[in-house]
Amino acid sequence: MTTDLAAFAQENGVKYFMISFTDLFGGQRAKLVPAQAISDMQVDGAGFAGFATWLDMTPAHPDMLAVPDPASVIQLPWKPEVAWVAANCVMEGEDVAQAPRNVLRRLIGEAAEMGMHVKTGVEAEFFLLTADGEQISDPYDTAEKPCYDQQAVMRRYDVIREICDYMLELGWQPYQNDHEDANGQFEMNWEFDDVLQTADKHSFFKFMVKSVAERHGLRATFMPKPIEGLTGNGCHVHVSVWDAPGQAARTNVFANTDGGSGDASEVGLSEYGSHFLGGIMQHATALAAITNPTVNSYKRINAPRTMSGATWAPNTVTWTGNNRTHMVRVPGPGRFELRLADGAANPYLLQAAVIAAGLSGIRSKADPGKRWDIDMYAEGYKVQDAPKLPLNMLDALREYDGDEALRATMGEEFSSAFIKMKMQEWNSFVSHFSRWEKENTLDI
Ligand code: ADP
Ligand code: MG
Ligand code: MG
Ligand code: MG
Ligand code: MG
Repeated sequence: MTTDLAAFAQENGVKYFMISFTDLFGGQRAKLVPAQAISDMQVDGAGFAGFATWLDMTPAHPDMLAVPDPASVIQLPWKPEVAWVAANCVMEGEDVAQAPRNVLRRLIGEAAEMGMHVKTGVEAEFFLLTADGEQISDPYDTAEKPCYDQQAVMRRYDVIREICDYMLELGWQPYQNDHEDANGQFEMNWEFDDVLQTADKHSFFKFMVKSVAERHGLRATFMPKPIEGLTGNGCHVHVSVWDAPGQAARTNVFANTDGGSGDASEVGLSEYGSHFLGGIMQHATALAAITNPTVNSYKRINAPRTMSGATWAPNTVTWTGNNRTHMVRVPGPGRFELRLADGAANPYLLQAAVIAAGLSGIRSKADPGKRWDIDMYAEGYKVQDAPKLPLNMLDALREYDGDEALRATMGEEFSSAFIKMKMQEWNSFVSHFSRWEKENTLDI
């Protein structure tokens, strides 16, 4: 594990560091710092005007310092003279409570105090578009059911291979790449890890995919529903909890080892796992504000059937065994998959929200409710008492605002900053005049 960035630069021929942090809207911000200056920066941090990013600050706030976490450093495989390093935001000697990586770090600490070490994997789907972002880049990729399309994935081999080679080099243990369910859509999978590492990798993956796509004259997007009528970009999260972090982990405490009956143990979740899942279920409608954070997110969930026949996205708060039509799937013993999140989710807040909901569930011994082993797309009407997911960003923000337990666990300072900034965004959206309004109400 790297501890000294100056030594890292010397050993690896790094000329510049990107000291990078992620703001409330998931924007990645960086300063390029020459290696000669990194020793001081590693201690003092790089200075930013927080107000100039999506953080709830004013122009009068003192400098925000982004202090690099040397353990996260990654030399850019496509430009080895530059190294990216995730930073923690500090102001006047204190962690900035609203900064997403700090929110996650605090929750990891809280979980650790309860003996919980969360490990997660993410599936960050993306589209490859033309450079202007207007259409999918491959004009021949038009199949009605394009998932796993052999010919289409090979037409993008140069891009996918380059990214996968980089993940191999970085030791992420990638294991598969495919064409996904929408024309122009791809997914690349790597091994799950401790939750902070997964969040850093997720951030870096987005940066890497966009950078490699640009080098090939394309534009990559993780936008939840970039193309009307096609399946959207999900970002499923797989979750398990272990007895120790990193390599020291021995026991998956979500795995049901004592048999037992009941909806959760039948599919291989321990009592512990069941309560954690109970927290996810209880807070799901509020979680959506974090997992589905943009106006466009709500065109993915609650969507009408896509051209391929299914959206693969949920609209109701239900869970099940190995069946992809629900919000939560338990694909096998010892883990669950939250299928709610989309490509707009902030990599740090996404993981933080999973932990916060899970902790709340464990504390209250929450019951995940009935397991529905049905095809939700065809038989969803059978589920009468499960909450519906929010229909738009405003509903989700109101759900979050009204969920005191989740708000407090995520941290009041973060929660109020997040709601305030997101409400500003919502207001900007609704004050935008759309063609739809004229088309539908001009002659009223
Ligand atoms: P699917 O498309 O079937 O949902 P993928 O293979 O695309 O699944 O992604 C599965 C993700 O779940 C990977 O990142 C994988 O490493 C991760 N994963 C597997 N087992 C666990 C576990 N016990 N805890 C957390 N994540 C896991
Ligand atoms: Mg200046
Ligand atoms: Mg997958
Ligand atoms: Mg997928
Ligand atoms: Mg999945």
